[in-house]
Amino acid sequence: MPELPEVETIARGLRQRLPGLVISSVRCRFTGVIVADAGCFRRSLRGAAVEGVARHGKYLFLRLSGGLDVAVHLRMTGQVLLLPRRMLPDRHTHLEVFFRGSGDKLVFRDVRKFGRCELLTGGIGRFVREKRLGPDALTVKSGHLWSRLQGTRRGLKAALLDQGVLAGLGNIYTDEVLFRCRLSPLRPAAALTRRQTERLTETIHELLREAIRRKGTSISDYVDPQGARGGFQHVLMVYGREGSPCPRCGAAIVKSRVAGRGTWSCPHCQQG
Ligand SMILES: [Zn+2]
Repeated sequence: MPELPEVETIARGLRQRLPGLVISSVRCRFTGVIVADAGCFRRSLRGAAVEGVARHGKYLFLRLSGGLDVAVHLRMTGQVLLLPRRMLPDRHTHLEVFFRGSGDKLVFRDVRKFGRCELLTGGIGRFVREKRLGPDALTVKSGHLWSRLQGTRRGLKAALLDQGVLAGLGNIYTDEVLFRCRLSPLRPAAALTRRQTERLTETIHELLREAIRRKGTSISDYVDPQGARGGFQHVLMVYGREGSPCPRCGAAIVKSRVAGRGTWSCPHCQQG
């Protein structure tokens, strides 16, 4: 499932190509991908210019003229691709956006069909508030994260996965962050000290920046808008590595179930 680094990689790819283009038409082959009315979505986009591309947590936003935005959430297997206009859509292509005078089209493709596109008329800030999303994990301040963690009775992993606490982390990067900080996924989130939260915040920022440099983690369906896979899956330290030696102490990585998710950790290094 795409997390912050994958969505940021997509945003950067689109930012190089889309701004300035004017949408000529929208073809929707599976209307379930559009939140609310697909006809209204198509009509509203036609003639709009792309002004920019933004991101908050795992949400991608196309900023359009006329105060409109399109929010995209990839969920499990969604892909946003820039493809040649003439390329025939396959059966997993649900939405195609065409531009005036451009040989490219923007495609939303999704094998599992859980991903969604939503037209916003009230701006991104309002959408983020309505969805009750927490601060973005790439830029969150340590004090802000600390106060959010204080407000929960859950374990650290469950709290970090909660997009209302912190927006952007999913199962892969949460396990990697906790390993790097030597923190147990089960440790009560509210018990973290300010100093530990500073270290956690720095580690989150470093890990996410490194993953963005490597253009994300491709374990299942994730690719960037040009169809290229990411490279961070080659440097994961604990995720998916049960039985392998811990890169720090050599103990065998264990897999457990925390917050309903498969969780990988070192039983020796992450006791705190
Ligand atoms: Zn270890």
